[in-house]
Amino acid sequence: MDHELKIRNAYFTYDKDQPVIFMTMPILQDMQSDDEVAFVMSYEYGHLIGRHIQKQQQQALAGALIMGALTAYTNAQAASAGVSYDPSDVDRNMALGAALGSKAYSQSYELESDTLGARIAAASGYDPVKGAQYFARPEDARTEAGNLSFWGTHPPDEKRLATVLAVSAQIEAKQSLQRKQ
Ligand SMILES: [Zn+2]
Repeated sequence: MDHELKIRNAYFTYDKDQPVIFMTMPILQDMQSDDEVAFVMSYEYGHLIGRHIQKQQQQALAGALIMGALTAYTNAQAASAGVSYDPSDVDRNMALGAALGSKAYSQSYELESDTLGARIAAASGYDPVKGAQYFARPEDARTEAGNLSFWGTHPPDEKRLATVLAVSAQIEAKQSLQRKQ
C-alpha cells in the first residue's frame, strides 16, 4: 500500500479538472461519529465552493511578482550606485514572495471552509458542532514516517471551533424564528 494512504488525511483537490474529496481509510477509522465524517467532507467541499486552490495560486503568483519586482528595483538602485549585488536574489525572493503570497490567506480560507462546512453539514441533517469535534481532538501533527498528517495542515484552533459554534447558533436561531411564524 502506498504510504500516503496510511496517513490520516483528508483534502480537496482536482483530478483532470474534476473536483475530488480525498479521505484515507485511517482517518475514517479514526472518526467517532457520522457527524464527524459529514463535517470533514462538508468542510473540504467548502474549499471547492470558496475556490481556494485557484485563489491561492493567484496569490502565490502576485507575491512572486511583487517580491521579484522589488528585488529587481533594489538591484538596479545598487547597480546605479555602484554597489555590488547578487542577481540571483531576484529568483530567491520570487520564491519567497510566492510562499508568502500563498500563506497570507490560508487561515481565512480555513475559517471560510469551517463556515461553509458547518452550513453544508447542518443542511444535510448532521450536527456540525459534534462533527467539528474531530478537529478539536489533539493528534500528532506528524506520522511515524515524518509526513505531515491532517493536523500538520489543520492545527486544532479555538477560532475554528468558535466559527462552527457561531454558525450553528445562527442556523438554530433562524429555525426557531421560522417555527414561530
Ligand atoms: Zn483546509
